[in-house]
Amino acid sequence: MTMLKEILKFNEDFVQEKKYEPFITTKYPDKRIVILSCMDTRLVELLPKAMNLRNGDVKIVKSAGALVSHPFGAVMRSLLVAVYGLQADEVYVVGHYDCGMSAVDPDAMLNQMVDRGIKEETIKMMEYSGIDLKDFLRGFGDVATSVKKSVDTIRNHPLMVDSVPVHGLVIDPNTGRLDLIDDGSK
Ligand SMILES: [Zn+2]
Repeated sequence: MTMLKEILKFNEDFVQEKKYEPFITTKYPDKRIVILSCMDTRLVELLPKAMNLRNGDVKIVKSAGALVSHPFGAVMRSLLVAVYGLQADEVYVVGHYDCGMSAVDPDAMLNQMVDRGIKEETIKMMEYSGIDLKDFLRGFGDVATSVKKSVDTIRNHPLMVDSVPVHGLVIDPNTGRLDLIDDGSK
C-alpha cells in the first residue's frame, strides 16, 4: 500500500475547491532570502512559522542534515541559482538539534542495504572503483560544527557573490528556538 491514491484523491478536491488561492504568489522570494535546511519531518511547518515565513517569502533548499556535501553538487547549485536567477540576497543555513544525520553510522547503513537486497558484490565493486561509500554516507557529530562547515563552504565558494551574507543557525525541532552560530552580516 502506498499513499499515492489517497494523495491524488485529496488533490482533486484541493484544486476543484480552489484551496490553492491563499497560496498564490510568484517564484521570486519577497524577503529575498534562500534557506538551506534539513528534511526532518518536524521542520516541515515549524521552521517557516518559527522564522515568520509565508508562502512566497523564501526559497528553501533541503538536504539531509542541511549539508553541502559537495561544492559542485545539487545543493550548492540550488543556492547559486537562488542568488543569480531568483533574487535571493541572503543565505541562511539552518541545522537542527537531534538531527537524524548526526546518528548515521555508515557501517550499519551498508549492512541494512545488504539486508534489503543490495548485493554485497555491488558494494565491493563500487569500493574497488574508488567510491568511498563510508565517506559518502557519513553523518556529523556536532550540529553547530557542521552548520559552520556548510556556511564556510558557501561563503568561500568561488562562484558565490561576495556581498551576499551567509548566516548559520541551529533550530530546536520542538520549540522552534533559533540559536545563532554565525552572523554573516557585513
Ligand atoms: Zn536533520
